[in-house]
Amino acid sequence: MALLIDDTCINCDMCEPECPNQAISMGEEIYFIDPERCTECVGHYDKPTCVSVCPIDCIEVDPQRLESHDELLLKYARLTGKLKD
Ligand code: SF4
Ligand code: SF4
Repeated sequence: MALLIDDTCINCDMCEPECPNQAISMGEEIYFIDPERCTECVGHYDKPTCVSVCPIDCIEVDPQRLESHDELLLKYARLTGKLKD
């Protein structure tokens, strides 16, 4: 599943540098997750690191972007050019 930042984001800048896929960037008003780059941290970490660092819990699963673990792993492989052992 790609994740989604909701409109309660306070632009604290905590999540953007932590994303291993460079999926987070500043949008017009709040931060935004590029669903083409978000693997829910699959391939990098055991759980989504942006969710771990967000102080107000405004990052959630995007119901429009439900993906299986295998699909996320393929996305990771496509983004990094390698498959995890
Ligand atoms: S879940 Fe991981 S890959 Fe997705 S936006 Fe958050 S830090 Fe980036
Ligand atoms: S950590 Fe949370 S509140 Fe801070 S910029 Fe990211 S989504 Fe917004």
